Amino acid sequence: MTAGADAGTNAAGRPGAVPLGVGAVLVTRRRIARRVAALAERIAESFGDEEMTIVAVLTGVLVFLADLLRRLPTRIRVEVVSLSSYPGAAVQSRGPSFRLWPVGDLVGRHVLVLDDILDTGQTLACLLDRVRSLGAASVRTCVLLRKNCPRVERVEPDWVGFDVPDAFVVGYGLDHDGLYRNLPDIRVLEAQDDAGGAP
Ligand code: 5GP
Ligand code: MG
Repeated sequence: MTAGADAGTNAAGRPGAVPLGVGAVLVTRRRIARRVAALAERIAESFGDEEMTIVAVLTGVLVFLADLLRRLPTRIRVEVVSLSSYPGAAVQSRGPSFRLWPVGDLVGRHVLVLDDILDTGQTLACLLDRVRSLGAASVRTCVLLRKNCPRVERVEPDWVGFDVPDAFVVGYGLDHDGLYRNLPDIRVLEAQDDAGGAP
């Protein structure tokens, strides 16, 4: 499918327009919506009557969180944390660093850690350690995308939205240098001369 074929209206201001540097659609908004609905069913089944505490990793997870939340029927609390692996215009991970950790009391809670992408695995591993050390009764994990690349940390999420190739992606909450989060489909970022990715 070409980039413009199902682009719809987006921040570029007119129907069909996609910003410069943003490439082909990898996952369409329709596939995302269907998958999010299916994930919500599986997660709801797993938690049953337990109260769920979602620990969501800002900022890339925002749109996924909003869509998933509204499909989950159980009693839910939401906590957000903020980590950064790709500061500024970087397109290669520099490892997670916490920016914000405002999580309330997790003792005895059934936690669902929600992240946008599993890449090196460092973010999820770091969060799992932290959440467990705070006394959660159980910890399950869900990521929207799992990249097909070698992991630094061996972590397997309980639920995965889509397996994707090892390319830098934007849209549906995912950014590059703060931009493109509002694109409704997930797209590949085209290679740029000055991507700022080299450590
Ligand atoms: P990990 O710690 O698993 O290497 O990195 C996970 C985090 O890096 C994700 O939560 C996400 O915020 C960011 N990330 C990894 N790959 C991409 C990508 O292709 N696009 C964007 N926008 N962020 C990514
Ligand atoms: Mg993230």
